[in-house]
Amino acid sequence: MNKIIYLDSAATYQKSKKVIESQVDFLRGGYANAGRGICARSVAVDNMVGYARQRVADFMGAHPGQIVFTSGTTAAMNMIAGMLGLGGDKIVAVSDLDHHSARLPFAKSLAKTIVMPLNEKLDIDINQIPYADVMVVTAMSNVLGVAQNVPEIVRMARNKNPNVVVVVDAAQYVVHEKIDVQKWDADFVVWSAHKIGADTGLGLMYVKKPDAYNPVIFGGGMVNKITNGEVFLTPGPEKFEAGTLPLTQIAGVGVAIDELEKNRPDLNLIKYMYDQLSMLPRIKILTRRDATVLTFVIDGMHVLDFGARIGARDICVRVGNMCATWIHNLMGVPGTIRLSVGACNTMDEIKYTVQVIKDIVK
Ligand code: PMP
Repeated sequence: MNKIIYLDSAATYQKSKKVIESQVDFLRGGYANAGRGICARSVAVDNMVGYARQRVADFMGAHPGQIVFTSGTTAAMNMIAGMLGLGGDKIVAVSDLDHHSARLPFAKSLAKTIVMPLNEKLDIDINQIPYADVMVVTAMSNVLGVAQNVPEIVRMARNKNPNVVVVVDAAQYVVHEKIDVQKWDADFVVWSAHKIGADTGLGLMYVKKPDAYNPVIFGGGMVNKITNGEVFLTPGPEKFEAGTLPLTQIAGVGVAIDELEKNRPDLNLIKYMYDQLSMLPRIKILTRRDATVLTFVIDGMHVLDFGARIGARDICVRVGNMCATWIHNLMGVPGTIRLSVGACNTMDEIKYTVQVIKDIVK
């Protein structure tokens, strides 16, 4: 092998030629601001943004009026926590599957945080869904890579409290499974474009009832009119999108979705590595064979040590706590090693990686 083997698609996905070209075409030939002008080029950019919003909506089973462009999952989660105006009497349910980005914006609010129990398989325990005012549901953990039963979790949450606001972190789920917001019945669903092969700096936030919330970020592009000092906001998702949008990223997101729908990561590559690595006595695999990632620790070797050694062989993997401290605490390990795949990987690369790992842990 004389090229880098990239096994960290769960952190961020490689960009395809088509996505790069769609962004470059926009930068070179069609650049202007959106929602700001009436010349032909501005109108073309408005149309491009409108198309992307429609494409994202179709992709999630939503209406374009429910799709808000943010700068990422993290930004969306902070925005939602702010919009909900969580006071001291509110209960926010979270789980140990959460990424720091999903939980901290709520845990740092004034509300009371309760942790939903996981079952023995480390899935959210459907039979122990608590009463909550707000529930954060991680649809797929970035450490364990297993789809959670979101419709059932939402149904149980609404049984306990019909007014619960359910916020779904779909940052990992979106890569591997189809999101269907109708089936999920959540209030918010968020993900980041860079995880599916579009660019960083763009987040997608589904809001079931945009009229029910007020924005927390104010500025240009969201104002309909100001009369006698009173500010009337633009109806629809634009009211949550103050300031100039990440247009270059938006130019690529539709193509990235097209490509993802045709070509999701081949999880047989994960299964192959699982079968091979589970035979090595020093390796302790923490994920299931059918998970979307392979996460493990090595007896007698620090994860950073392993990361440096495999990195020196030109293989990129993720090591550490993956911004998911709670699941690591629950599993009793400070850090793990994660292998994840994307459309860029081949079976030859995977076979070579297995050989290198065998060499390192022998
Ligand atoms: N949630 C999960 C499950 C993730 O994997 C990530 C990215 N590692 C995030 C949230 C945060 O996404 P971003 O950094 O793009 O805002």
